[in-house]
Amino acid sequence: MAHHYHQHFDVIVIGGGHAGTEAALAAARMGCQTMLLTHNIETLGQMSCNPAIGGIGKGHLVKEIDALGGAMAKAADQGGIQFRTLNSSKGPAVRATRAQADRQLYKAAIRHSLETQANLSLFQQGCDDLIVEQDRVVGVVTQMGLKFAAKTVVLTVGTFLGGRIHIGLDNYQGGRAGDPPANRLAERLRELPLRVDRLKTGTPPRIDSKSIDFSVMQEQPGDQPTPLFSFMGQASDHPQQISCYITHTNEKTHDVIRAGLDRSPMYSGVIEGVGPRYCPSIEDKVVRFAERHSHQIFVEPEGLDTFEVYPNGISTSLPFDVQEQLVRSIKGFENAHITRPGYAIEYDYFDPRDLQQSLETKYIQGLFFAGQINGTTGYEEAGAQGLIAGLNAALQVQGKDSWSPRRDQAYMGVLIDDLSTLGTQEPYRMFTSRAEYRLLLREDNADMRLTEKGRELGLVDDQRWAAFSEKMEAIAQEQQRLRSTWVHKDHAQVDAINGLLKNPISREASLEELLRRPEVSYRALVDTLGDGLAPSAAAEQVEIQVKYAGYIERQQDEIEKQRRHENTHLPIPFDYSKISGLSNEVVAKLNQHQPETVGKAARISGITPAAISMLLVHLKKQG
Ligand code: FAD
Repeated sequence: MAHHYHQHFDVIVIGGGHAGTEAALAAARMGCQTMLLTHNIETLGQMSCNPAIGGIGKGHLVKEIDALGGAMAKAADQGGIQFRTLNSSKGPAVRATRAQADRQLYKAAIRHSLETQANLSLFQQGCDDLIVEQDRVVGVVTQMGLKFAAKTVVLTVGTFLGGRIHIGLDNYQGGRAGDPPANRLAERLRELPLRVDRLKTGTPPRIDSKSIDFSVMQEQPGDQPTPLFSFMGQASDHPQQISCYITHTNEKTHDVIRAGLDRSPMYSGVIEGVGPRYCPSIEDKVVRFAERHSHQIFVEPEGLDTFEVYPNGISTSLPFDVQEQLVRSIKGFENAHITRPGYAIEYDYFDPRDLQQSLETKYIQGLFFAGQINGTTGYEEAGAQGLIAGLNAALQVQGKDSWSPRRDQAYMGVLIDDLSTLGTQEPYRMFTSRAEYRLLLREDNADMRLTEKGRELGLVDDQRWAAFSEKMEAIAQEQQRLRSTWVHKDHAQVDAINGLLKNPISREASLEELLRRPEVSYRALVDTLGDGLAPSAAAEQVEIQVKYAGYIERQQDEIEKQRRHENTHLPIPFDYSKISGLSNEVVAKLNQHQPETVGKAARISGITPAAISMLLVHLKKQG
């Protein structure tokens, strides 16, 4: 007979991956009694693929998670063993932090955050079923038949639903290597009125570093000083730092791959799910870019206390004998010993157009989805969705309106709006090019965009709030000083200042005006005057805001124009054939997407400005 657990929870999160841990932490921070139900407590925060956090677009998400009090950035600081700022020579909008992580240290940091979080309980069991009553989720059932009651449920089960692992033409069931799939739950979810399909992703073989000749590879040390992920981080959080290495595939590698394609599950049609276009397998790269003679491989350590390395760039599901040959054809890998075969995994994902911006499903109340289950790929994309789903589950329990950042506020907003408006046919990953307001959504100002809202929601603790307030105060003071400090022709240091300028000072100028000149940096200006520098985070902000003021203002004007559409809500469900004048194609698309706002409707491909005008006229008539 089914046994009911004694405690009723506000929020139950299923799955302890990157989405699940952020979701559970967020709900608990907001004061909800939360339970994280996961297959295995030992795999909390496990990185299924490469041990690295951040990168272009993804680093932005990590900083936003941090700005809302999440765990990923802090864990990356505590687990990171090689840090780099990518695009450091480019503008601030596209600069991104990336950390190679020690898998074990990262996992330990995540587990520590979970175990020390008030209002949060962990429970190890597979979830086999959801309890749904009159289109509302009210609890979950575990593998051993245990029932837990919950007001809301956040599902974050990653690649596990109906997971099937492929190595060559062999395949077997699995959630990822070494873990069981979630088949029973997959079957039950397929009975819900939600659209489901298959995707695939892959991972490279791992190699024993004792069998690698690093002397023939290019060494890539991390940046100095080591960048930090968390706004609360300190350099002393970082463990020992070590180098990554670079090698390349060659013609011989490509010949081996081509010869093995007839036994590739991808190319023989065994795998039906679509793979990640931006993180393709090596066989995909060799076929799609046949003209290239070589592809770069980053040889990345898996940790400080292990000899395994991750060869980033040769993800593959070719048969194992082909994997061995291809690895050994690469410079430095001639005698390589593979410790774990590469593989691909196919899994169920749900069409994210069936989600609201809060990540609650449109048709089952109280049920939220986050992470790979929504068709994304990547830890950062998962963590970002987890946090938003967790906070909205909590808001619903508290009887409050949902909240999700807008496209002009955060990459998180771009991510969720893209998914819920446009859906995805391939694993979705974040890029800076997906954001139309890139100059506003920088890594460096994620806290200024989100921390205040996070505080209001109950996600940001006193310590973070105090540090943030102090930084804002320092920025305001320094801006004021630059605006009100004037330099004129008779100024004591005028010669030194003119030395910084292309055209010398001809009339009185404020320091802010001088800083606007492209050739002048904040540091050079303040050093020349002999003034003390503002604290580094404040100095960075002051400089960026002055230098890019014109562009930033233009983007803000554009946002104001769009806001009216973003704030105009559409009813759900709604039959668009009732609006006269809309073409059949537009009616079909709007009926299928059921957009929440006019802004979202306008972003659906094929929805014309004329159709939007008709929608607005209809809404006006309805009053
Ligand atoms: P996961 O991290 O998969 O976590 C899911 C969690 O849910 C696990 O803890 C699992 O045990 C638990 N769970 C599942 N079902 C149940 C259940 N029924 N009951 C209880 N608990 C359950 N990302 C990239 O960016 N680039 C890549 O190249 C890349 N390659 C990948 C290759 C492979 C083989 C795999 C498996 C993943 C790859 N990823 C890659 C994806 C990355 O790992 C995921 O995007 C990310 O981990 C998703 O996070 P998540 O929280 O949604 O799910």
